[in-house]
Amino acid sequence: MHINDAVSLEDLCPKFRFRQWRKSIHRFTGKSCIYCGKPSESIDHILPRSQGGLNTTENCVPACLSCNGDKSDENALYWYRKQKFYDPRRAMAIRAWLEGDLRLALRLLQWANPNYKISNKNYEKNESEYKAA
Ligand SMILES: [Zn+2]
Repeated sequence: MHINDAVSLEDLCPKFRFRQWRKSIHRFTGKSCIYCGKPSESIDHILPRSQGGLNTTENCVPACLSCNGDKSDENALYWYRKQKFYDPRRAMAIRAWLEGDLRLALRLLQWANPNYKISNKNYEKNESEYKAA
């Protein structure tokens, strides 16, 4: 983790921007859970807040309620390895996301699920929104 590079959006932004930011996280994956591919209904912290995880894009992934609830306070990478829907490509995507390489993460997710509706065009748009926030 690059703690010094991390920008806490909660610190920077009022609630409105925080909501926009949450939406943009869902848009990155086309509203799809990063773990199982079902519709994402929540934001999950890869490293739980209870373990010092930050509210940054790098640490926050779109997740369905079932994965988010089941994972609870576990580290996502450990938890994910134990799931029946485990897919090494998704695990790599989660790791890339955590390292801040969203472009690679999305490419890996596309590979894991060719039905993902992610276009580079959307990604560029999201990226500029994120920078503006
Ligand atoms: Zn899920």
